[in-house]
Amino acid sequence: MTAKMTSYAERVFELVKKRNPGESEFHQAVEEVLGSLGPVLDKNPKYEKARILERITEPERVIMFRVPWQDDKGEPQVNRGFRIEFSSAIGPYKGGLRLHPTVYLGLLKFLAFEQVFKNSLTTLPMGGGKGGSDFDPKGKSDNEVMRFCQSFMTELCRHIGPDTDVPAGDIGVGGREIGFMYGQYKRIRNEFTGVLTGKALSWGGSLIRSEATGYGAVYFAEEMLKTRNDSFKGKVCTVSGSGNVAQYTVEKLNQLGAKAVTLSDSGGFIHDPDGIDAEKLAFVMELKNVKRGRIKEYAEKYKVKYYEGKNPWGVKCDAAFPSATQNEISGEDAQALLDNGCFVVAEGANMPTTPEGIDKFLKAKILYGPGKAANAGGVATSGLEMSQNSLRLSWARDEVDNRLKGIMQSIHKAAYEAAEEYGSPGNYVVGANIAGFIKVADAMLDQGLV
Ligand code: NDP
Repeated sequence: MTAKMTSYAERVFELVKKRNPGESEFHQAVEEVLGSLGPVLDKNPKYEKARILERITEPERVIMFRVPWQDDKGEPQVNRGFRIEFSSAIGPYKGGLRLHPTVYLGLLKFLAFEQVFKNSLTTLPMGGGKGGSDFDPKGKSDNEVMRFCQSFMTELCRHIGPDTDVPAGDIGVGGREIGFMYGQYKRIRNEFTGVLTGKALSWGGSLIRSEATGYGAVYFAEEMLKTRNDSFKGKVCTVSGSGNVAQYTVEKLNQLGAKAVTLSDSGGFIHDPDGIDAEKLAFVMELKNVKRGRIKEYAEKYKVKYYEGKNPWGVKCDAAFPSATQNEISGEDAQALLDNGCFVVAEGANMPTTPEGIDKFLKAKILYGPGKAANAGGVATSGLEMSQNSLRLSWARDEVDNRLKGIMQSIHKAAYEAAEEYGSPGNYVVGANIAGFIKVADAMLDQGLV
């Protein structure tokens, strides 16, 4: 796909497919990383000798458990809970929890695997993990969500801890869910500690954590633009999703003088050619975070067009920010973006572009920032939340924001330079995979056969 695999990588990829049948997203994520590593593997036979690829593609630990809870009618319900502790080579497992009906083992393995390299890129000492459940929070009452979260944490709390594994939010897990889970952890373990990130400010949270993934994706795109002496001033941007990442992507784009014109949810997308300004964004935040309504209501309120069942990639733009979910940009969507003149894509979501779409972006040599680099601001700021918890201090908003910006600049630099050094200048996919891999692989070599 992005490059030809070496015979060693090819062998391991075949093994991964055989040992993990039916886990297509995991195969896709592994193929993308292994496909980038050719020049590193050729230059460093020590990795093959130590079977690093065989080890790095096998999670250190997978936990699966039953989550029984009672709905508002008093009926028993059962969901399945997971935590994938993929790699602790460079720090405690770290990564979000996803609550969505599509969650299954293979989806979380892909997310945890991506997280290993993403966390390595952040410059902070964090291993990779991911977890969640096939529970669907949509249409559930606050009490049902609370009972689910308490039951989920009753089991999960045995496996996590501030120096072991520190989960955070992801799709379907925001401040409300983190609150319910933290309360239950504290009650069972009798510890007030930094075991989850994304906490509210009054009980251990960090300023800028909510904003971090969206802001970070825009900071990363800004760095890519700088390599072409360009900026966001006057750029028209399409954004998908309307959750945490999408909302703060729009906020930062507005601050930098760009115009965000779309938002979406699983029902469809809205197109507001005048731009989603601060006032309209406040409406979206209330709609999505408090009323838990549908994006269609934006179209009704502001008299703009709503496209049922469609995604925004056919809308003309300079830059696109996929911020909803995996595989949301197909090869055709990528072509539509390119045909319309889009020359910047920064992935707020994880693996939102299919392999066919990635190929098109790379061939067209646009500024394409893959998720594991572009959306690393969220986990980086979670890392900053962990540091503040350990220090029992809270840093000011500007301090956290400056650190986030500095980290995004470092990630950009690392990916950019690794791509140059290994013969694929301008290819941030190869650059991010290589830079993320080397640090983890070298730590594994140092630590022996574990
Ligand atoms: P939220 O739950 O806050 O929002 C998700 C948004 O995406 C919603 O608008 C949702 O619509 C839409 N969406 C979810 N699944 C689908 C689907 N299958 N098809 C169409 N639309 C969908 O999640 P986040 O904003 O936190 O996460 C968005 C993406 O960013 C995910 O890929 C996540 O892994 C990634 N990410 C998040 C980080 C964070 O800090 N939160 C960090 C790094 C990456 P609906 O409500 O209709 O389901």
